Amino acid sequence: MGDTNIEWTDKTWNPVTGCTRVSPGCDNCYAVIQTVRAAGNSERYKDLVNERRPGARRHFNGTVKTHADLLDVPKKWRKPRRIFVPSMSDLFHQNVPLDFIQRVFDVIWDTPRHTYQMLTKRPERAVELAGELRWPANLVFGTSVEDDRVTDRIDALRQVPAFVRFLSLEPLLGPLDNLNLTSIHWVIGGGESGPRARQMKAEWARSIRDQCVAAGVPYFHKQWGRWGEDGTKYRSKKAAGSKLDGRLWREYPAVAGFKDKKAIGEATPPPLTDEQWERVAPVLPGREETPGGTGLDNRAFINGVRWKAWTLKPWRDLPDEFGNWNTYAVRVKRWKEGGHWPGVCERLNDPFVARFVGVS
Ligand code: SF4
Repeated sequence: MGDTNIEWTDKTWNPVTGCTRVSPGCDNCYAVIQTVRAAGNSERYKDLVNERRPGARRHFNGTVKTHADLLDVPKKWRKPRRIFVPSMSDLFHQNVPLDFIQRVFDVIWDTPRHTYQMLTKRPERAVELAGELRWPANLVFGTSVEDDRVTDRIDALRQVPAFVRFLSLEPLLGPLDNLNLTSIHWVIGGGESGPRARQMKAEWARSIRDQCVAAGVPYFHKQWGRWGEDGTKYRSKKAAGSKLDGRLWREYPAVAGFKDKKAIGEATPPPLTDEQWERVAPVLPGREETPGGTGLDNRAFINGVRWKAWTLKPWRDLPDEFGNWNTYAVRVKRWKEGGHWPGVCERLNDPFVARFVGVS
């Protein structure tokens, strides 16, 4: 657990280990290889993979272990991080109990300084349990799709009430020319690495990139894997490179923690849209004929509170566009005493704000 070489994350956190193969995308599972390596040194990774048989691939044997003693690990990381959880299992595996998943989500909720990335090949279980979980705004939730036999996972993902939803099209094993990107906020594509790597054809990657560009969805081309853009099998993924049509495609969703590595924790929320404002304005304190129109402009005030709730920076750093920072803390308190926040939060649907003002 700790620092990682995965291109789009900083840390891994593995309160769950072990899994079961679900589809061809699992056949060269990176977590299986890492588990076999770690099994000699750690009980957490022991007896999770089937016996070695000549010529046969090794797979997880279906045993899943939960590690309650690792639940607090992200709380000890003071600096904001992008955390991949879990990298050695699938949290929505049928053998992970609901109450343990809830505890993982609670830690994510309790550490808004971090941005978490969670990937599952079982989004249908996430849909089933969605109502039992508190979905934090700092969770980027995705599903893996390797070819068009498993695109139903994308439809399931759309039903998950995550703040940001992403697709990991890796290892890409076939064309995906008719992606439905509705309500998808980020796409990562990539080929397979390792000695048994299967080829990702260049036209499959181009088609995905073009669909993302057309739909306005950020695309991250992670790597070619062992098979390069020119169709050659290279000795390593590094040798095969990561450029697609001569350039790196390294786009991220525009949410806290994702602009680039330096910007972690510094991204700010977009201003309220007219539609959000129209929803919220009627429940704000003010004269009946001018809802939301008293004192310091309420729209700027709510945008300022969102800035604070997302960045967790001191009030004195509030950008000028939001007005005088001196008045904010008092006004937040006054709205609390007046019982205004629950109504605002219900209509605003911004978990960071709800958490900041203490509305559950
Ligand atoms: S679901 Fe993920 S972790 Fe589990 S076997 Fe498949 S690739 Fe590996």
